[in-house]
Amino acid sequence: MLDNLGNLQRTHSCGALRKEDVGKNVTLMGWVARRRDFGELTFVDLRDRDGVTQVVFNAENFPEAHTKAKDVRGQYVIAVVGEVVLRDESAHNPKLATGEVEVQTRELYIFNDARTLPFQLDASPDALASEDLRLKYRYLDLRRPQLQSNLKLRHRVVVEIRRYMDEQGFLEIETPNLIKSTPEGARDYIVPARIQPGKFFALPQSPQLFKQICMIAGLDKYFQIARCFRDEDLRADRQPEFSQLDVELSFATSEQVYALIEGLFVRVFRLIGGDLPVPFPRLSYAEVMLRYGSDKPDLRIQGMELRDLSPALEGTTFAPYASALATGGQVKGIVIGGGAGLSRKTLDELQEFVKRYGASALSSIRLGDEVSSSLLKALGAEAVSTMAQTAGAEKGDAVLIVAGKPKTVTASLGALRNEVARRLKRIPDGVFAPLWVTEFPMFEYHEDDGRYYAMHHPFTSPVDEDVLLFERAVNSGESDLLGRIRAKAYDAVINGVEVAGGSIRIHRRDVQDIVFKALGMSKETARERFGFFLEALSYGTPPHGGIASGIERLMMVLVPTDNIRDVMAFPKTASAADLMIDAPGEVDPKQLEELHLRVVKDE
Ligand code: ASP
Repeated sequence: MLDNLGNLQRTHSCGALRKEDVGKNVTLMGWVARRRDFGELTFVDLRDRDGVTQVVFNAENFPEAHTKAKDVRGQYVIAVVGEVVLRDESAHNPKLATGEVEVQTRELYIFNDARTLPFQLDASPDALASEDLRLKYRYLDLRRPQLQSNLKLRHRVVVEIRRYMDEQGFLEIETPNLIKSTPEGARDYIVPARIQPGKFFALPQSPQLFKQICMIAGLDKYFQIARCFRDEDLRADRQPEFSQLDVELSFATSEQVYALIEGLFVRVFRLIGGDLPVPFPRLSYAEVMLRYGSDKPDLRIQGMELRDLSPALEGTTFAPYASALATGGQVKGIVIGGGAGLSRKTLDELQEFVKRYGASALSSIRLGDEVSSSLLKALGAEAVSTMAQTAGAEKGDAVLIVAGKPKTVTASLGALRNEVARRLKRIPDGVFAPLWVTEFPMFEYHEDDGRYYAMHHPFTSPVDEDVLLFERAVNSGESDLLGRIRAKAYDAVINGVEVAGGSIRIHRRDVQDIVFKALGMSKETARERFGFFLEALSYGTPPHGGIASGIERLMMVLVPTDNIRDVMAFPKTASAADLMIDAPGEVDPKQLEELHLRVVKDE
């Protein structure tokens, strides 16, 4: 027989009781996390969102409650009424905030039972059940204290963001979710419009055009914690739907955006006791790519910057290097301080690692008591030692080297820098290393279809100095000049994670027209897709700019965790499925009919 809640009320949460509460009569409610039976005494760890309290059932004092407690199993939902008592000093549990006390239970109410769980909630992090199983039973996995603490922190972060943005004079404005496509480089999720057969809405990849229109509307300073939808092949830190703090301000310079966001992040990181050094250092895109091989370098990692080794290789006849250098490629390396002891096995694994980034091989020079290098035979001892010197390596170090196309060399060494630092445990805990990456290129060339794409998005303004070059590139058709145009675009990076990105926008219709032209968009296509926006631009658009910060990314740095699913309540899998509700799913044929849709199965 289950008990009713009736008029029973909680007096405290399960995380609240302390020594000072001894003697009080309390009522606690929660889930049975653990039950231990010692004959006359039964102990239950009672858990709710707030914490755990040990409650005791004593056969001698309260036989009825003690007998009833025998029926209680894991994850039953119960209430206990009793007195707070001090635990014996020897029984103090320093791991629990409530660990000095326990509740002597007078009355036990069992509100609900629970089936045996499909997995254990209190397993150690490396013994957790498979993630798919836990995602199917997300409501159970969410009972784990770690996930609860992540969601509590997320709440506090979002509250702090709202408070700060309000203090800074921003208005929170909601923009619609049923819209037309806004290009942010991913595919759109589309929604059929029942009342207009054959027409579709798109879910926003971001509120980009709406927030710019808010500026045209004179709303001056806008923000929103916006839900965004991107249908792309998922990577570890992506989800098909996610939240971002979306910001736009009128008459804004990049400097204003930097100051606003630095102030915000300082406040948010303070929530976890983190201290962010302000102002954040600023490095141009060109510089970070050259030095770190990444547009989101992890500045917690000391050194290991990319070094150009070509000066040491002049006139080399070693085929892989000679051909790379003769065809516009590069030979670069990173120095691992104290890395002379890296094992052959580790080097082989690192070679496999860089291959994932397109490198054909990883060469190494280890400067131990003797020089050991796969290159000795091919290049000779002298050339190898010149290479090590050029890299800036000293005795005891190792140099890891990749040759090939500039993009491949940069990407593989950039990733290798992080990987080596991770393996050698050279990334300090509890340190936050922020920076702004500035002056991104406007356009990025995609080799697969041989054309330029906007690197940020097509509403980003070129830097003032490059506007003339830009107009020349577009009007004269010298499209390779496009790769040299810099944008007023910026990213905030913390610990190697891009936590925000934005730009100063184009506010002039003529410039916007040229950008669409540069992207190979005909006037008709531009009008069809963005006519409303181009028109809006011509009714008095103030200079403006903004930024967006992914809440999940930010949370991953704060928690910290590498798993984006740890910082959202109901995430999807890497194949964009919700295993709990079993979505996406099929729909009723009648629904399809109403929507004027027919599903065509691939043969
Ligand atoms: N709309 C951009 C994004 O979602 C951010 C911005 O430019 O403000 O990434």
